[in-house]
Amino acid sequence: MKSRLVFLGPPGAGKGTQADLLCANNKIAHLSTGDMLRAEVEAGSVLGKEAELVMNRGDLVSDELVLSIVEKTLNNQNNGGWLLDGFPRNVVQAKALELLLTKLQQPIDAAILLELDDEDLIARLLARGRSDDTETVIRKRLVVYREKTEPLVEFYKQQGLLSKIQASGTVEDISLRIFQKLGPSL
Ligand code: AMP
Repeated sequence: MKSRLVFLGPPGAGKGTQADLLCANNKIAHLSTGDMLRAEVEAGSVLGKEAELVMNRGDLVSDELVLSIVEKTLNNQNNGGWLLDGFPRNVVQAKALELLLTKLQQPIDAAILLELDDEDLIARLLARGRSDDTETVIRKRLVVYREKTEPLVEFYKQQGLLSKIQASGTVEDISLRIFQKLGPSL
């Protein structure tokens, strides 16, 4: 199993939950930049201190910082499959990823977009209750998503890599839809 996947979608669409399931079932590495950054914050590292303020206001951490973490992680993957969750978040990151993967000779197999409307996203995020899940910060994260991350939908569509998944319903509903799309290639 060597699938190399990118998960796209607004905060609250269920990327983390679905990525966990898909990766556990198919033995691929779940690489979440949000989780990596939260681990740095937890550890109180210099990097974590720099990221924390930005994360708590719902903005994107600098490309330089995120790219350094991702590059290190992908270089250590030993040619196994992986799923990138929450990265890339803008066009600069997507182009940097493309360059890195060309160098590693590990092209992306598919980009999966989880789609859900804003009302449902906000309801889900408020129910989750993470420290950056207050209503003001959630709204900010949605604006940042539409402005900076959504252009990647077209970016991956043009490369013929995009699969759209409707992200409403239960965890099982959504994972079934993903499996039906990806199943044959997993
Ligand atoms: P997430 O867990 O993916 O919702 O990410 C939580 C927060 O971490 C985001 O609101 C950003 O502040 C930061 N973050 C995660 N991934 C990235 C990324 N690829 N680029 C910039 N900031 C990121």
